[in-house]
Amino acid sequence: MNITEIKRRLTCQLNSQEAKSIIQFVTGLDQKGQVLNYGKNLTPYEEREILTILEKRKGGFPLQYILGSWSFMGANYTVGPGVLIPRDDTEVVVTSVIPFLQKQSKPRIIDLCAGTGIISITLNRMFKDAQVYALELSERAIPYLEENIKNLAPEVKLCKGDLKKLYREFEDENFDLIISNPPYIKSSEITSLQKEVQKEPAMALDGGYDGLYFYRDILELWTPKLKKGGMLAFELGEEQFSDVKAMMADKSFTNIMGYRDLGNIYRAINGTVNT
Ligand code: GLN
Repeated sequence: MNITEIKRRLTCQLNSQEAKSIIQFVTGLDQKGQVLNYGKNLTPYEEREILTILEKRKGGFPLQYILGSWSFMGANYTVGPGVLIPRDDTEVVVTSVIPFLQKQSKPRIIDLCAGTGIISITLNRMFKDAQVYALELSERAIPYLEENIKNLAPEVKLCKGDLKKLYREFEDENFDLIISNPPYIKSSEITSLQKEVQKEPAMALDGGYDGLYFYRDILELWTPKLKKGGMLAFELGEEQFSDVKAMMADKSFTNIMGYRDLGNIYRAINGTVNT
């Protein structure tokens, strides 16, 4: 089989972006290389590899896990079973805090439920003088987080443990920014997610019966850790904006703002504390 034939075979069952990514992963030819070498024959090994990947994809195994890395805001992250896959959705919460951070000097930042580390690492790459912490509980996710910190932003400090306990390790009025993409899917909806998403860790998705457990815990336990004028920023699931906004207002946050994603859904919220 040559490049054109294998591409045709893959695009019968997957989208063309996935087909190109798989061919690149196995042959090393990037998209341009694939066009220039359209008639090049695959080795038997390459052909077998590609067809094995196709079978795994058809079984609902996410492509990102097969490839072992995925990019987010210009950097490549190591990913695999046991950690949530980086999603473009998360750009919304990251970009929402940029104007605030531009006004701070040496901001202290903590990312709760850090997963692969996309939020903490991106912020540290953008704001070199920031002191950034990444907190993660999952034993399965932590090796990916460690690897990504080491490769991309070695100054990020890793905190291993439960956000419901580790808040005690920090003094009050300690952070300029607390930011989180917590698990936010309702427990009852986990089993109806796409089969690819079901291959991701339930622990990174399950936000309790109403999807809001982590917002409540973070607001309750971590609000005192913000400096006066400090900011709290969350990624949101669909239809969570008004509930989380009310919860933040209840904790005396002001300047509460929502930020929409490309699907016009409120995907992030932030606000500041003044007391
Ligand atoms: N964005 C993910 C999804 O909809 C959920 C991630 C999360 O719970 N934080 O599948």
